[in-house]
Amino acid sequence: MNGKQVNRDRLRRLLSEELERFERDHPKSRTLFERAKASMIDGVPMNWMVKWAGSFPVFATEGSGAYIHDVDGHRYIDFCLGDTGSMTGHAPEGAMPAIVDRVRRGVTFMLPTEDAVWVGEELSRRFGLPYWQVAVSATDANRFALRLARHITKRKYVLVFNYCYHGTVDESFATLKDGRTVSRYGNIGPQTDPAGTTKVVEFNDIAALEEALAPGDVACVLAEPVMTNIGIIHPEPGYLDALREITRRTGTLLIYDETHTMSAGPGGYTGAHGLKPDMLTVGKAIGSGIPTAVYGFSEEVARRIRGSIDKEGADVGGIGGTLAGNALSMAAMRATLEHVLTRESFDRNIALAARFAEGVESVIREYGLPWIVKSLGCRTEYWFRDTPPKNGGEAAAAVDYELDRYMHLAALNRGILMTPFHNMALISFKTAPEDIDYHTTIFRESVAALFE
Ligand code: PMP
Repeated sequence: MNGKQVNRDRLRRLLSEELERFERDHPKSRTLFERAKASMIDGVPMNWMVKWAGSFPVFATEGSGAYIHDVDGHRYIDFCLGDTGSMTGHAPEGAMPAIVDRVRRGVTFMLPTEDAVWVGEELSRRFGLPYWQVAVSATDANRFALRLARHITKRKYVLVFNYCYHGTVDESFATLKDGRTVSRYGNIGPQTDPAGTTKVVEFNDIAALEEALAPGDVACVLAEPVMTNIGIIHPEPGYLDALREITRRTGTLLIYDETHTMSAGPGGYTGAHGLKPDMLTVGKAIGSGIPTAVYGFSEEVARRIRGSIDKEGADVGGIGGTLAGNALSMAAMRATLEHVLTRESFDRNIALAARFAEGVESVIREYGLPWIVKSLGCRTEYWFRDTPPKNGGEAAAAVDYELDRYMHLAALNRGILMTPFHNMALISFKTAPEDIDYHTTIFRESVAALFE
């Protein structure tokens, strides 16, 4: 890699200064964390919270629009937005009245409500797929889509891209090593060796895709149309056309996971680019953060599913979720789609994301850094390499845990929350231009401390 290199001693010194400042500024979060250790493993309600950049997580009190407050009285400009769950902004005004009203009138009945019909019709309009089902999370939507794909194709494998993330879906915890599928680093207690369920290829590699699908034993490809979980990796020109053509030719179903790529617009990347998947999944922001997700099917896939599931066994077939499709989640999706995730809102925050990227790029230019910025609609991210990675393997090779941690913590100590585990910013429908410019100032200060 060309260009300026980070002085590791200086980086470590800066990181320890930021850690000291973090601890000094967050005494109440520390007290709660110490108390939580007695009732929760590692003092956190969810295992990955231990990975936040500070010595312990910040304990939040409330979120409103683009901002979060913590127990120590700090306010943060929130560019993490619950890793997309709150892309709508926290407690979005457009959705809150319907959500609160629904909470008062009963949340879960094991019966459909009229909102479900409205949501199905609207999803069809946005994503171009005529039929829909509801799950509790994007993970579940993906798991159920994989099951249905195997069910109707009678094929055993699924194909995913190297360093993808689709939630806690067993089949997707696989990476490529020397051309072979292996269990992903960190995979906790896998129920089976993913080599027996999964084929992995690099994104943007047409020849590898051809080869993997040629034997006709892959039920489906599960893919983000733009990779977002190992940096943002765009498809090369013609790649998604090739993916569609090869999957069709080999009788392999194509599932797009739009959970993050929804940042591209009201119909996600699929809507924005007229893509034609066989199935599509999307969760997180679609209910303003109320747990819910949906998965949709083409006419042809729906035809194959219809009548293929025995009514008597339908409740024990591995597709479920007692709370799936409950009245609250349907009301949340309806209100979110109708009033929050609208074309006008996207136009506004996509323009602000461009402003964010320009700010970061101007600092990169000023300091001659070998870093790049990539964007997808209202999502933007910087990465520590000098050219855009073509695939997950290339992107993963540039991960710099220490540098990530420093950039995150320096931002957090100055009132900015970035998405943990990578340097990603989401722009909410409530983020102000001044928030973006403040980030540029802080990003510049952090870089100056590293290189001046
Ligand atoms: N799909 C994608 C693309 C994701 O990034 C994630 C989570 N980050 C999921 C699915 C799973 O979402 P959840 O954890 O809400 O089930």
